[in-house]
This record gives sequence, C-alpha cells and structure tokens, in this order.
Amino acid sequence: MRLLIDSHVHMESFDDPESVIHQSKDSGVDAVICVGGSLSSSKVAKRLALEHPGYLYPALGVHPSEVLKDDIDAAITYLRENLDGCIAVGEIGLDYAYSFAKPKDVRAKMREIFSRFLDVASEFDLPASIHSRSAYKDSLELAAGAGIEGVFHWYDGPLHTLKGILDAGFYVSATPSVAYSKGARAVMVEAPLDRILVETDSPVYLRNLARRSTPVDVRIVVDALAELKGMDASEVSRVTARNTERLFRLP
Ligand SMILES: [Zn+2]
Repeated sequence: MRLLIDSHVHMESFDDPESVIHQSKDSGVDAVICVGGSLSSSKVAKRLALEHPGYLYPALGVHPSEVLKDDIDAAITYLRENLDGCIAVGEIGLDYAYSFAKPKDVRAKMREIFSRFLDVASEFDLPASIHSRSAYKDSLELAAGAGIEGVFHWYDGPLHTLKGILDAGFYVSATPSVAYSKGARAVMVEAPLDRILVETDSPVYLRNLARRSTPVDVRIVVDALAELKGMDASEVSRVTARNTERLFRLP
C-alpha cells in the first residue's frame, strides 16, 4: 500500500534524476508522477518512467510557458503515439501571468492549444494535470467542457472558481507553498481532503527555504495540510495517496 505520493514532479529537470529517485525512495515517497513540460522533456519523462516501473508514472504534455516555442503538431503526434502506458496528459493549461501572454491573440492561441491537448486526453480517456495560473476561469471552462477528469495543480486561485472546480469533479493539488502562501492555505482550508493531492512541482525554487525542492519535500505539504485540517499527518498522506491512485488509476 502506498502511503505517500508526489503527484507532480519535473524529474527530467534535475541534473541527476537517478540520485533524486534514490533519495525519494529512501525517504518513504512511495511513487512519483512525472509530468512533461515540453515535447523534449516529455520524451525524457517517459524514458525515466520506463526505467523505474512501479515507481515513476509518466504524464506527457507541453507547459503553457513552452506552447509558443514547441511544435504543437509534432507534440500532439508524439502524444498520440506514446500515451500508451502513461497515466495522464500534462502538464498542460493556461497562464496569463507571463509577460508574453498579455496580448489577446496570444491568450486565444494558448486556449486553442490547451483545447487540443484536452481533446487528446478525452480521446485516450486519460486525466489531465492542469496549470491554470492567472487563467483560472478559462482553464476550468475548457477542462470542464472537454469532459475529462483532472487535477488543478498548485491551485491558489479564487475560492469561487475553486467551487466550480470541485463541482465539476476535479481535484486540486497543494505544493510546499501551502506552508506560507495565504492564497494556497485558503484553498486548502476550503477543499475537502478527499479532493486534494500533494505534490512538490520539483525542482521548483522554494523561496521560504531558499533552495530547490525535491520529492522528499512532499512531507512539508503533508505536515502543513495536517495542521490546517487539524488531522494526523499520516492520515493526510494516506488519503491523498488514495486520491492520487484513484485519479490517475495507478496500477
Ligand atoms: Zn509543473
């Protein structure tokens, strides 16, 4: 039985993924979902996962920061040919916070590309790992319209959109930011534990600790949630691991 799962990691972004995987296993992280951030990183995520069956589970996708740089037709073709054995489409989504995403036509393009990835998720009957920063309402509208399952990763948006996310059956995930971010904490107080996943988004930079994260830091998330919910950390990690298994249908 898995007791602790990191549901969102960019494993290919580490200089030495093998030592990170080793360290995660040693620290009691029972499984890791490896998301792709671009066409090239999706390829590495899949290769790493194949080398660590039963521990790393791959998702393939193109992050909104990369959608204007990557060849989306090539990425979609790659996904169609390689999603067999993957547990999700991701990381995909929208992000209006980037300076390049200010013009309306760029945002429209982002939505069009996100929809194409959502269609692939629907076609393959896979859930999606969704990035929605500063584009919460549009992300929800498109994801709900696609009729897929998924998780709004690192969700720290408005509470009224959170209600829509939960009503539509989606999950939200908490990162180490839940230890310090007012927005993330408000979301996690509101969301029921059976709809929450935990993750590190590693190797993201943790500003409160002034270093990059690894999957081991998923314990920071569990501890912060336990404090917010007034529950035992072991219960939080067990329930969120079940949620992750259920959403991504982990074997
Ligand atoms: Zn990410």
